[in-house]
Amino acid sequence: MKTKISVLLVCLAVLLAGCADVFPLNQQNPAFSAGVSVSDETFSDVAETSSKEDISTQVVTTTAETTSVTEKATEATTQEPATQEETTTEAEEPTTQKKVGIVEGIIEGITELSGLLSGKNNKHSIDPDKPLLALTFDDGPSAHTKRLLDILGQHGARATFFVTGNTVGRRADTVKRIVNEGHEIANHSWSHKNLTELSNEDISAELEKTNNKIYEITGVECKLARPPYGAYNDEVKRVGKDLGMAYILWSYDTLDWKTKDAQAVYDAVMAGAKDGRIILCHDLHKTTVDAMETVIPALIEEGYQLVTVSELLTARGGSIKAGNTYNKLK
Ligand SMILES: [Zn+2]
Repeated sequence: MKTKISVLLVCLAVLLAGCADVFPLNQQNPAFSAGVSVSDETFSDVAETSSKEDISTQVVTTTAETTSVTEKATEATTQEPATQEETTTEAEEPTTQKKVGIVEGIIEGITELSGLLSGKNNKHSIDPDKPLLALTFDDGPSAHTKRLLDILGQHGARATFFVTGNTVGRRADTVKRIVNEGHEIANHSWSHKNLTELSNEDISAELEKTNNKIYEITGVECKLARPPYGAYNDEVKRVGKDLGMAYILWSYDTLDWKTKDAQAVYDAVMAGAKDGRIILCHDLHKTTVDAMETVIPALIEEGYQLVTVSELLTARGGSIKAGNTYNKLK
């Protein structure tokens, strides 16, 4: 009897040992630590010299030298003519492709940044060592925007929508989806007027009215704007500063509004895609959304992470200031 019990105990011990191998306790899944989470609450830059290994633990306060977007360089290349959307534009490429690591933590001293991030679901896994691209869509929301959201969602891609205020109310459901699905919503004026031809009062009204409408529908306080036609001057900048808003231009224009051909849009985006770029498209056109069916998986296949403008600027720039304009990074 005793022998039988001993044998049983030994068997039990062996079984338990086996179970321990199958279900090791507290084993960390490496997948959880891979990638980097970016949100308006958890972001910090890591010095350029940081190695991949210490990214998860090192928090470095951002310095102007390493991360601030070069305003001078931006200024020099963003003076677009009022007819910007009718001309081919390819701004200089970002000269530095910073490998900016991101860890949990909040950047000290860059209070503007967190304030400028908009969108409710900013949690998005980003690997700063891989190429980033910000697709931006202007002049919507349109009848095609929901399909675009479907495509983006299928591929886990993010984008930024510069909406015109006078269409926001009519397509409230689409606007809510933009925000709820983690994309960024931004201001493209109320009625798409050339802001440089307006009084300061009217510029302010174009921006504020749109902000108010976006807030009313989504609860998002919009801090990024793109002036129609990329047209701005000192007065436009001054009003932006007063309203606490920054202007986002672009580094590559797909001319989708002109070609209105899905294949041409595909070719343009694929030719213009480069790490760190902000790509200009228009979700107003069916052909642009048609193109995105193939563009988005193709970009991902090429290794691009499709991120919002704020995610891009956060990962590569680190600082956005109200009243300034951005289209490229240092
Ligand atoms: Zn526009």
